[in-house]
Amino acid sequence: MAEVCVIGAGPAGSIFAARMAQLGHQVDLIERQRFPRSHLGESLSPGVMPLLQAAGMRETIEAAGFPSVTGVWVNWAQQPRLRQDPGERGLLVDRGEFDRRLLARARAFGVRVHQPARVLERTRDDAKWHLAIEADGAFVRLDADFVADASGRRGISRQRRIRKGAATLAVYGYWRGKSQPTVPRIEAGHNAWYWGVPLPDGSYNTLIFVDPDRFRSAPGTTMSERFLRLLDRSTLMNDCRDAELIAAVRAIDATPYLSGDCVAPDRIELGDAALAIDPISSSGVQKAIQTALSGAIVANTLLRRSESTDAALSFYRAQLGEASERHRRWAAEHYRDVAERCAGPFWQQRAGPQAVTDPAPLPAIDARGFATTPVELSPELEFAPTPCLQGDFVSLAPALHHPRLASPIAFLGGRELAPLLRILQPGRTPLQIAQSWSNRMPLQSGLAIAGWLVNHGILVEQRGRSGMPS
Ligand SMILES: Cc1cc2nc3c(=O)[nH]c(=O)nc-3n(C[C@H](O)[C@H](O)[C@H](O)COP(=O)(O)OP(=O)(O)OC[C@H]3O[C@@H](n4cnc5c(N)ncnc54)[C@H](O)[C@@H]3O)c2cc1C
Repeated sequence: MAEVCVIGAGPAGSIFAARMAQLGHQVDLIERQRFPRSHLGESLSPGVMPLLQAAGMRETIEAAGFPSVTGVWVNWAQQPRLRQDPGERGLLVDRGEFDRRLLARARAFGVRVHQPARVLERTRDDAKWHLAIEADGAFVRLDADFVADASGRRGISRQRRIRKGAATLAVYGYWRGKSQPTVPRIEAGHNAWYWGVPLPDGSYNTLIFVDPDRFRSAPGTTMSERFLRLLDRSTLMNDCRDAELIAAVRAIDATPYLSGDCVAPDRIELGDAALAIDPISSSGVQKAIQTALSGAIVANTLLRRSESTDAALSFYRAQLGEASERHRRWAAEHYRDVAERCAGPFWQQRAGPQAVTDPAPLPAIDARGFATTPVELSPELEFAPTPCLQGDFVSLAPALHHPRLASPIAFLGGRELAPLLRILQPGRTPLQIAQSWSNRMPLQSGLAIAGWLVNHGILVEQRGRSGMPS
């Protein structure tokens, strides 16, 4: 009998399981493959490390010594260029080793791991979940109060998914040669985009993202032949003509989607089981870890504070829905950049219609204006009780709702905003406002919050004056 049973030990499953164990739950984690096993998702966005830190898993990944991304060679809508951002460095990882390390940490946090063991079926009666599991050729049953599905894109809950973009197939092959690119490459083709990822073991993964029907009808008798012909139209292999394929060419669906039913009082979906974003953002692993961390607080609330069930459910649904929509818009913008100069249907379908224009940007306020301009709360500002993460639980807190905010905000820099704004006296400058909070926080933090409120149009110049955004 398990209190919490997690299916799948990718980043989402291991981090969720570890976090639940840290919160004092008894957790069983079931993974069908032996580790290390290969997996796509080898180029990690810079946001992964801070999340691993929050999960208590940063050190184990740093100890692996994975190389960081020093630049990306981009051949997209403009002239080809090497994009470098020293402040924003992602990692190139061997996912077999990355996932093995996260799982080992989960075990160290007290998670009971069953591996290799495959969940064949889940059923529910009035009392419990019953999981039918195949382990080493034997069939076993595990009962649980709560089930977390972290079984990934090809996992067990595929029937509830809603497509969030054009159907896309990724066809990929791993190469090895004497000279290979040392930085990732991204390239827009006529009806496809290409991605080359140099890996820590010296191999080179080349991926082509195409429309599945178009790929099937492309010239060539085998998948491998079609892949090689398409790859030849890119510059991905220009510097490594001596390289040889070291594994069979493979294909995987890469269509973005969102689960239509990601959470209930006795179950939750995490990572790719809950939502998949367009791989063009290379932040699927980051998103999977985010769902694991917030999903653990949601599950903890569902298991221990039944009075907050509705808040927990709506928090998680809203969080996933907003993330899916944010990524969809971001990806569409990138496709639109190419669609403007290339009429191929691949780009037109993915660019979609122009997004609704964001409100006009607010002019930045300078230091003088900060000290001299009287401000007041925007008349468009509303406070409403909104489900938020507070410590280890989801609960309702008064949040700011404003047309300039993509989603309601209750906390900023760990401080609750509503109590700070309720004591505001109109006619004070942002500097005086920050000073008036000095009994609650250091002046520097107050200045940062006041600046944020001005920049987001929450604090506006007092009516009848000019010189500041209104
Ligand atoms: C073509 C492509 C390229 C991508 N490239 C990137 C990239 O460069 N960077 C990036 O950040 N993201 C990338 N992604 C996305 C990334 O791979 C995923 O978002 C990430 O791996 C999701 O993690 P997860 O833990 O949810 O699922 P997974 O990592 O898929 O883990 C799921 C685990 O569940 C196990 N499992 C499945 N079924 C069962 C069962 N019945 N019983 C027990 N265990 C089971 C599986 O064996 C697996 O270990 C890419 C995706 C695609 C399609």
